[in-house]
Amino acid sequence: MKNKLEHFSDLDLPPLLLEVIAELGYTKMTPIQAESIPVLLSGRDLVGQSKTGSGKTAAFSIPILRNINMKTRAVQALILCPTRELCAQVAREVRRLGRRHAGLQVLVGSGGQFIAPQVGALEKGAHIVVGTPGRVLDLIQRKSLILSKTTTLVLDEADRMLDMGFEEDMEQILAALPRKCQSVFFSATFPQSITDLSAKYQQNPVTVTIKDAAGEEAAIEEKFYEAGLGEKTTALIKILEHHAPQSAIVFTNMKAVAREVSDALNNTGISAASLHGDLEQFERDRVMARFRNQSTRILVATDVAARGIDVESLDLVVNFDCPSKPDTYVHRIGRTGRAGKTGLAVSIVTPREKFKLALIGEYTSTKPVISPLPRGKPQAEKSDVITGGRDNTESVIKAARMETISISAGRKDKLRPGDILGALTGESGGLKGDDVGKIEIHDRISYVAVRKDVAQHALKSLIEGKIKGRTFKVMLLR
Ligand code: ADP
Ligand code: MG
Repeated sequence: MKNKLEHFSDLDLPPLLLEVIAELGYTKMTPIQAESIPVLLSGRDLVGQSKTGSGKTAAFSIPILRNINMKTRAVQALILCPTRELCAQVAREVRRLGRRHAGLQVLVGSGGQFIAPQVGALEKGAHIVVGTPGRVLDLIQRKSLILSKTTTLVLDEADRMLDMGFEEDMEQILAALPRKCQSVFFSATFPQSITDLSAKYQQNPVTVTIKDAAGEEAAIEEKFYEAGLGEKTTALIKILEHHAPQSAIVFTNMKAVAREVSDALNNTGISAASLHGDLEQFERDRVMARFRNQSTRILVATDVAARGIDVESLDLVVNFDCPSKPDTYVHRIGRTGRAGKTGLAVSIVTPREKFKLALIGEYTSTKPVISPLPRGKPQAEKSDVITGGRDNTESVIKAARMETISISAGRKDKLRPGDILGALTGESGGLKGDDVGKIEIHDRISYVAVRKDVAQHALKSLIEGKIKGRTFKVMLLR
C-alpha cells in the first residue's frame, strides 16, 4: 500500500474541503496525516501516534468532514479530549476546516461549565460534538446526547485521558456507541494502556506510528544547568535574562511552587503568571489569553495545568523542577520547537536530581551534559535604560509588549473579530492595525491584545464608543 500520497489534493476529497485546506496554507500532508487519512477515509479503525504538533487534529477532522451528512442534525462524530482547552482548540480547528460546510454545528460539551446550555444546544441538534469524557458521559446518561447515528469516535490525546483517570468514562462511552462506529485513537505516546483499550474495543485496527526523524529532533536544543536547592529561582532569572525569550513556559512539579516562582519573577519585574489547578476556570482562561497574546511573557505551570495549552510559538521551555518521569520531560520540551522553528529547552538540576538525567538520557538516547549557568545579562541591561513610552522589547525579557482588554461578549452574542477591530481602528478608536494584536472570541467573552502604549486609549474608546452599536462591559486585565 505504499503508493506515497503527499499532497491533500492526492486524496479523494470534495473540492470545497480541498479549497479550505489550501486557504489554511496546508499543502503537503504531515507524515501522520499522509499515513492515517487514507485509512480513515476507508472506514477502518485506527491507532495513531505522533509527536505533539504534528497535525493530528486535521488528520481526524478532514475524514469526519468528508463523511458528514449536512442534511441531518444528528451527531455523526464524537471527539473526546482531556481538557476543556483542548476541546475548544479542536472545535476551533474543525470549524475552520468546515467553514464551507454551510450550517455546520460543532458543539463543545466539556466540564467546568454549566450543563444546561449544552443540553439546550444538543436539543437543537449538532453534527459534531467535542467534549471531555466526564461531561460527555453525563450528557449521554441524561439522554441529551444521542449516539445512534454516530459513525466516528475519536479519542484525541488518548494517552493523556487514560493518565488523567478517564478510563472508566471512556469505556462507558465506547460501549454506548453503535457497533459499527469507526473508532480512532490518537496520542503523542503509545503506552500499553492504549494497546489494551484498542484490543478491547477496536475492530481490526490499523496502527500508524510516526518516528521522529533524526533531523527533526535537532529542532529542540536541550541544556541542563546545575543549581543548589535554594538557588533555583536566581538560576531561573539568570536563564531568562540570558536567553530573553519572547514567550516561555516554566514547569514546576507542584502548584504551590508555580505560584511562588511566578510571584518571584513578578517581583523582579519580569512579566509572569502562574497556571495551576486552584484557579477558577475564568481565571485560567484569562491567564491563557494573556499569555497567548503576549501580555504575559512567562507562564509558570504544573504539568496538569499545562495540559491542553495551545500556544503557537514558544521559544523556551524551562524545567524549574526536573520531572521524575522521562516521558513527562519529553512532553514538556515538545512544546517548543514547533512548526519548523528551533526551540530551546533548559532544565535546572539540583545535585539530588542528577540521577534523573540518566533516566532522561536513557529514554531519549542522548547524553545530557550539565553546563555552567549563563553569566551576565547583556540583553536585560539594555532594557533598564529604556524609559516609558516606546519599548523596544524584541530581545528584552522584562516588559510584555501587549496588554489585554476583555469584552463581556462573545460568539454567542454574534461578536466577530472584525467588530472589535472595527471599533478600535475606526473613527472613534483611531488605532493603527498593528497596535492591535491577537483577538480571541470565546462563547461569552472576548480578549483583544493592544500595544501597551495605546492600551488606555483603546480602553477609553471601547468604553465610550460602541461595538456593533451595543455597549458591553470592557476591562483592562492585569
Ligand atoms: P497535534 O494534535 O499533533 O499536536 P495539531 O493538530 O495541533 O497537532 O497541529 C499543529 C499545528 O500544525 C496546527 O497549528 C495546525 O494548524 C498545523 N497543521 C496541521 N496540518 C498541517 C499541514 N498539513 N501543513 C501545515 N500546517 C499544518
Ligand atoms: Mg492534538
